[in-house]
Amino acid sequence: MSPEENARLEQLSAEREADHGVIRDFLHAHSESLSDEDEGLLGHAKGGIKVRYAHGWVQTYCVCMSHSGRLIAKPNQEQNVGAISNCAEPFAINEADDQQVIAETFVVVRQQRPDEGKDVHVVTPCGACRERIAHHNPHARVIIWLGGDYKCYRKIRIIYLLPMQYKIRIRPNGNGVSGHQFKS
Ligand SMILES: [Zn+2]
Repeated sequence: MSPEENARLEQLSAEREADHGVIRDFLHAHSESLSDEDEGLLGHAKGGIKVRYAHGWVQTYCVCMSHSGRLIAKPNQEQNVGAISNCAEPFAINEADDQQVIAETFVVVRQQRPDEGKDVHVVTPCGACRERIAHHNPHARVIIWLGGDYKCYRKIRIIYLLPMQYKIRIRPNGNGVSGHQFKS
């Protein structure tokens, strides 16, 4: 690569780091500390992935909690072809829908592979799963790990992880919770 292009890449990298700092400040300002219930949810997720982890089969674990404190937990599903592996969140959301429960708080954890270590980390849902969570419950909150200077867990509304969300229609029930699926 030319020296000019290398210099440009370094400049872009520095800008990206600065952007991350701004975004962390924003997320911290619009999030809350964890309640005892949230800590319990987090502990359940960390304990769960330790049990469910299977190299090449399961790596992440999504736990969500309803207003009444009901917990729903599902692992991801890895495939031989990595590109068709499935995240854990859609399984948890489908289970919540089956149980006619609105999931209000989500957390996703990842167990490191043996060649990485033995730690369990909270991971932020991928872009597609942010959409899935917001579609299930636009008022949902997600537990995230805020790195940088903060280094703490925070709970944040999904809308702050999905700014300028793509929308093609107004939801039929206005309030936006996926209650329209619950027809019993
Ligand atoms: Zn995902």
